Amino acid sequence: MYNIVYIPGDGIGPEVVNAAMRVVDATGVKCNWQEAQAGLGTFEATGDPLPEATLEAIRGADASIKGPTATASGVGFRSVNVALRQKLELYANFRPARSIPGIKSRYDDVDLIVIRENTEGLYSGLEHTVVPGVVESLRVISAKASERIAKFAFDTARRQGRKRVTCVHKANILKLSDGLFLDSCKKIAAEYSDIEFDDCIVDAAAMKLVIDPHQFDMLVMENLFGDILSDLTSGLVGGLGVTPSANVGDNAAVFEAVHGTAPDIAGKGLANPTALIQSAVLMLRFLGEKDAADRVDAAVRKVMAEGQAVTGDLGGSAGTTEYTDAVLAAM
Ligand code: NAD
Repeated sequence: MYNIVYIPGDGIGPEVVNAAMRVVDATGVKCNWQEAQAGLGTFEATGDPLPEATLEAIRGADASIKGPTATASGVGFRSVNVALRQKLELYANFRPARSIPGIKSRYDDVDLIVIRENTEGLYSGLEHTVVPGVVESLRVISAKASERIAKFAFDTARRQGRKRVTCVHKANILKLSDGLFLDSCKKIAAEYSDIEFDDCIVDAAAMKLVIDPHQFDMLVMENLFGDILSDLTSGLVGGLGVTPSANVGDNAAVFEAVHGTAPDIAGKGLANPTALIQSAVLMLRFLGEKDAADRVDAAVRKVMAEGQAVTGDLGGSAGTTEYTDAVLAAM
């Protein structure tokens, strides 16, 4: 029996979280689900978008699954996601981008993994006004966090049978900060002689990913570059509606979709839960439940390939429940 925390979140969050829980329960893997709160709704109800009780619950759980949470741009409270990653030291963001049969996209055989450093860079939140009209944001890069994320990338590559890790950086211009990130990756790479290592400047990496994503295997980078390029790679396989992610630290792991709260379709039963279901697949693998993970993944792929019960964002007419029922039937 696993203790799993679920955070419904805002907007379509409760709908897609419910779908993912139904699918996990259908695998037969026994989960003791514990609800915890975070997001805009929680802020409006309690004055705190990320209560300490939620952090405690996540720390005490075997894993957690999270719906998207709303954050206003420019004003208001700090992003729950950024706070969650920093407070729980969820230092590694793991985002696979794998083509799904039946989903129309530019390429049909992409299989990439982006590993993003999750705790520092520009997301350190250190911004200040120097004089009115001039603002500085500090982009923090430390050897400790850089080596830690490089090690995570190489360990993951080894576990998943990946052949090559590419460090993406801008060390030609940001000689100190990205120089340190690149050097840290090189240092760790030397400890993994079974896995190839190379590096690529971020702008060139973006271009190469669009022209021919097959030239990469696993990519590791700092926070902002990872945020942008992982959305790019999700665009290579059908977009945010189908892309899962995992936020992993030494003491906790939170699995969530890459998309947001989709306020335009929230509460209408139209949301595509695939990204969160695929995040649950990552959670099952993290828990060591490989067979269950494979079964869910195969069912999602079957339903997508058949194309009969897909949601509106993918050109179909099924609602969240109808699609989830089809995945359950395929299992
Ligand atoms: P969004 O991802 O919520 O929506 C972008 C578009 O994609 C919308 O048209 C939406 O309907 C569609 N979409 C997204 N997910 C979908 C799904 N599962 N099924 C069908 N269609 C889907 O992005 P946004 O509008 O920029 O952000 C809305 C809110 O979400 C903001 O408050 C933002 O801060 C938050 N957000 C949260 C997370 C998170 O919690 N991980 C991530 C991104 C954005």
